[in-house]
Amino acid sequence: KNAKGNYIVSMIEGDGIGIEISKAVKEIYAAAKVPIEWEDCDVTPSLINGRTTIPEPAVKSINKNLVALKGPLATPVGKGHQSMNLTLRRTFNLFANVRPCKSVVGYKTPYDDVNTILIRENTEGEYSGIEHTVVPGVVQSIKLITREASERVLKYAFEHARSINKDRVLVVHKASIMKKSDGLFVDTAKEVAKLYPDIKVEFELIDNTCLKMVTDPAPYEDVVMVMPNLYGDILSDLSSGLIGGLGLTPSANMGDHVSIFEAVHGSAPDIAGKGLANPTALLLSSVMMLRHMGLDSYGSKIEKAVFDTIASGTANRTRDLKGSASTSHFAQEVIKRLA
Ligand code: NAD
Repeated sequence: KNAKGNYIVSMIEGDGIGIEISKAVKEIYAAAKVPIEWEDCDVTPSLINGRTTIPEPAVKSINKNLVALKGPLATPVGKGHQSMNLTLRRTFNLFANVRPCKSVVGYKTPYDDVNTILIRENTEGEYSGIEHTVVPGVVQSIKLITREASERVLKYAFEHARSINKDRVLVVHKASIMKKSDGLFVDTAKEVAKLYPDIKVEFELIDNTCLKMVTDPAPYEDVVMVMPNLYGDILSDLSSGLIGGLGLTPSANMGDHVSIFEAVHGSAPDIAGKGLANPTALLLSSVMMLRHMGLDSYGSKIEKAVFDTIASGTANRTRDLKGSASTSHFAQEVIKRLA
């Protein structure tokens, strides 16, 4: 906390629409009188000894404040610096990515009963970044799975299930094909499950989960899903699609000390700078952050104002939700509903 008794939170505005949606968050927080002071962090990547590195002041800020809110960061495709998202997750050991996905009352989609929680392993798997060309035209990419990283994300999933009164954990995998890598994840899950006799562990193949979830998402409400990195990436976008798209889904990157809250979506270069972005996903990520900090009443107030604004009709919704509102109009409407 600072001298005025406000919590200091690191803020990474991000690229593309990151600038617009973090501005909306800051305006809404000021109006809601949330006792937070933002500490802006520059995370422009620098290459040190061939490694993509986060600027030291940003690392210091996040290590000091322990909590950060982050806009999306763009990653060049096929060349250039490594993903800063990955670098942040590795630097702060953010091993579990929690992605809730809940139907928004007031925005009609084919299903109105989606309510899932997906926990994605956040540090390895297909994202290990170990790739090389064997001979021209032949590339090898290494999917790294370790017992250590599997165990900590699985334990996190069981603990999380307990904390929200769910008694089933669903491990999503493809060990039928990736017998050793996903096999290790599955075996570790069976071991970890023994530590949680009050929670039932179940297993499902990722392709089957995709099929069943788009056919009828309702049964997934009763479980906490946990899975290796890439499956979590894809399945969470699929879940977002069920409730109205990436403009709506938040996430929390959790580590032992630091936590970074961010939207599931990216920098949306196709709409960046046009005032079209939906700030809801970043706002709901910030609500997860407020609850993590014990500021639940502010979180609930902002969450309600956001959902009330979406339910108030197309004039106040952004274009991704079939509306006509700009980012700033949406933010002003949320502010009106904070009372
Ligand atoms: P994206 O999520 O940026 O966009 C996908 C589609 O969803 C686009 O049509 C976009 O306009 C729309 N969209 C996303 N967020 C929206 C919002 N808040 N409001 C309205 N529409 C929204 O995915 P992409 O285009 O594949 O990636 C763009 C860049 O973002 C890439 O450089 C990628 O590496 C990066 N990225 C970053 C993160 C992160 O920072 N965590 C996550 C995913 C992608």
